Amino acid sequence: MAQTFYDSVLEQIDSTVERICLDPGIAKIIKTPERELTVQIPIVNDEGEIDVFRGFRVQHSSARGPCKGGIRYHPDTDIEEVKALATLMSLKCAVANVPYGGAKGGIACDPRELSRCEVQKITKRYAAMILPIIGPKKDIPAPDVNTNPETMGWFMDAASMYEGNTMLDIVTGKPLELGGSLGRKEATGRGVMLNTLEILKHLDRDVKGTTVAVQGFGNVGSIAAHLLAEKGARIVALSDVSGVLHDPDGLDVSKLMDFVHSSERPRLFSEYECPNCVFEKDGKNILYSDVDVLIPAALENQITIDNADRVRANVVVEGANGPITRKADAVVNEKGIHVIPDILANSGGVIVSYFEWVQGIQSFFWDEDEVNRHLKRIMLRSFSEVWDLSRKENISMRDSAFMNGVSKIARALELRGIFP
Ligand code: NAD
Repeated sequence: MAQTFYDSVLEQIDSTVERICLDPGIAKIIKTPERELTVQIPIVNDEGEIDVFRGFRVQHSSARGPCKGGIRYHPDTDIEEVKALATLMSLKCAVANVPYGGAKGGIACDPRELSRCEVQKITKRYAAMILPIIGPKKDIPAPDVNTNPETMGWFMDAASMYEGNTMLDIVTGKPLELGGSLGRKEATGRGVMLNTLEILKHLDRDVKGTTVAVQGFGNVGSIAAHLLAEKGARIVALSDVSGVLHDPDGLDVSKLMDFVHSSERPRLFSEYECPNCVFEKDGKNILYSDVDVLIPAALENQITIDNADRVRANVVVEGANGPITRKADAVVNEKGIHVIPDILANSGGVIVSYFEWVQGIQSFFWDEDEVNRHLKRIMLRSFSEVWDLSRKENISMRDSAFMNGVSKIARALELRGIFP
């Protein structure tokens, strides 16, 4: 049977547990989510008929603080995927040293098939259904695939109607007008850019002229590509769900961002006209680009045992969660490719979500430079902790990031003791 995303995460934890000789009881706790909720989401669609969707929220661990994690809307989302993502969130928050545990949510739906009004209805009903386990001190959602600040505004509104007061602190990634933080929308992509610059520096390589391919041109991929282009990298391939755009001289990322956002729903690359670009329908081919840096920033399980040997980049920076399966990871490591793992590479989003939460509690908002300065400080500290441990132990950065994250969660569990 094919290895699922959750299998990969649990196997990686098992190998970490062995490496750090962790108490088997504590390991059992870390391998079991604290709470899993599946809810029914009925709405009256635009045709006046009833549609019913399934929604999920998994709280993996609150050992280090309130649970934290995004909400994803995707047709393939199920409870197993959400469990994997929630587990990675706990580890990510631990590696970044932000005082949160991990959670994740999702709704099995295809937003491209739904009107804006239907998505709003789904969001508000989902918020109402998971509200009993959500709250600023319990679990704070944020955006993920196919959700954005507008979605967070709707979620916040529904929760506020139930609670009888405006609960700005119930989600992060909110619009600025509703207590959002400057720099939050760009934070994950900015973190990916910072990690890329840092690894290039450690490998004694100049970012200027570095060739980059990015899979996925949403929140994470587009911002990472844009910021790396600003630093002098050449973005030679970009993909979205419709296919890949190539230009060996470098794609104009700003122009592409304007194009994608020129209608209510993101426009697809298959409709983009550009004299120097070549469009290729098979999106997977971007993973095999002959580039210095590959940034998978779409979905999990993209590089598997079946295609890992075709990856040619020297460095892979995981903008997405779980883009490389555990078996494929071994192949990629064997090839000498440096991989910055998801729980480090894409932690910029949760770090600035933490800043949003802090700013909201203090009702005192920072300017964007301050947000970006603190993000860089935390990101570089996490990078060097993970890098140094990987050199010291002669292991991959994924193994060292997992050692870092699992040890911090284990320590919190030991200090708290078992209840009752
Ligand atoms: P998004 O919805 O903004 O964008 C997703 C992009 O991926 C779109 O361009 C879409 O066309 C593309 N895509 C979807 N399926 C694809 C496929 N099969 N091949 C190529 N492209 C495909 O999502 P996002 O927020 O950018 O999230 C992307 C990844 O980053 C996810 O794994 C998510 O969990 C992770 N992540 C997001 C954040 C955040 O703050 N948004 C934080 C950490 C990690």
